[in-house]
Amino acid sequence: MPPSPPGPGCAWCWRSPGRWPSRATSWTGWRCIAAITPSPTGRAIRTPLPVRHGTARAASGLAHAHLGWLFADDPTPAERYAPDLLADPAMRRVARAFPALCALSLALPFLAGWAITGTLYGALTAFLWAGLIRIALLQHVTWSVNSLCHVIGARPFKTRRHDRSTNLWPLALLSFGESWHNGHHSEPSCARHGLNRGQFDPSAAVIGLFERLGWAGKVHWPDPERIQRRRAGPQRQAHAPTGD
Ligand SMILES: [Zn+2]
Repeated sequence: MPPSPPGPGCAWCWRSPGRWPSRATSWTGWRCIAAITPSPTGRAIRTPLPVRHGTARAASGLAHAHLGWLFADDPTPAERYAPDLLADPAMRRVARAFPALCALSLALPFLAGWAITGTLYGALTAFLWAGLIRIALLQHVTWSVNSLCHVIGARPFKTRRHDRSTNLWPLALLSFGESWHNGHHSEPSCARHGLNRGQFDPSAAVIGLFERLGWAGKVHWPDPERIQRRRAGPQRQAHAPTGD
């Protein structure tokens, strides 16, 4: 399943009746934007999840899954893999505005730092921490779902053969629940990725809030019986092996 930046799910998990707040939340800079953002090579991409065997190749695969794919000459056509997103005019508008939104998210901390401190030093400090470092942290958390959440962690649920997705609890808070990735792969249309009791999933909480406000409908919440059937045997609950 294509990984994504932290955010409250996608069109597979829930539908918006069209109210602006929920649609904006599902679009802005998050899962769907990532799905059709051009790579540096100019090709539209969904991120790959390569798994390679042997220590050196595993490290290479991990690096590629984390960051290397951004620079690969990936011929993945958006028309084939994201026709639903391309067909949504509002989604296309947001995608076109993405560079401007990025510029704005850097300019605002600079201006806020200037306004609060009245100095260039304060503006640059805010630009560094609330702009550049914030974006770097967000991106690395996102990419860690691509990389670490297919290598390290528990695999409590059944997935397709050769699927190595894992649940990595230390990333749950920073990734807004996206790091319950084994749960997501096992039940990809489920709005909640943290399928086990007590698994912190802020994205699911946001979707639940939208549902209560009438901004989201047809939400796919976990079905306890189905989740129970998806539980893997004890051998798969161990930490992911390094190669098979
Ligand atoms: Zn995945």
